[in-house]
Amino acid sequence: MANTITTQELEILSNKAISAKSTAYCPYSKFRVGASLLTHSGEYITGANVENVSFPVGTCAERVAFGTAVVNGHKEFKAVAVASDITPGASPCGMCRQFMREFLTPSVPIYMYDGQGGHIVKTMGEVFSPTGIYSALWCGVVVQVGDVGFAIFLSLVLYICLVGQYLQWDNIIT
Ligand SMILES: [Zn+2]
Repeated sequence: MANTITTQELEILSNKAISAKSTAYCPYSKFRVGASLLTHSGEYITGANVENVSFPVGTCAERVAFGTAVVNGHKEFKAVAVASDITPGASPCGMCRQFMREFLTPSVPIYMYDGQGGHIVKTMGEVFSPTGIYSALWCGVVVQVGDVGFAIFLSLVLYICLVGQYLQWDNIIT
């Protein structure tokens, strides 16, 4: 069962994620993403994507927000919001899902806002499953490789590796 937050908390969380988009540094993709976190102590921490001319060096909004939170002493969270300009709203990439799983229990909700103010919500547990990770990786591989055939091959290899790792992680974490 998902953690619950109040309507007021959700409104603040979503507004902060949506307004954080304006702080993004994304001159290459023009793809703005904002993220906000609600800590267990009731504070809100935001982040936005920070790109680099070398694509993999850039950092996603989620990891910027979590990094900021952790260095400020926050390691427990009640909810996460991610906002982008596309519809449906973008979901965290595979790397971010792994990063977030370090700090989120499976029941923590992740709200994903689109450009029109609509959203979908899933729990950490739902996005951090072999299937969830695979779909996030698949999108990333197609974008980066630019070749669907090779992307299929590469993502199959990644899927096999990740399922093995996921099962090990699951045993260790839970
Ligand atoms: Zn990411």
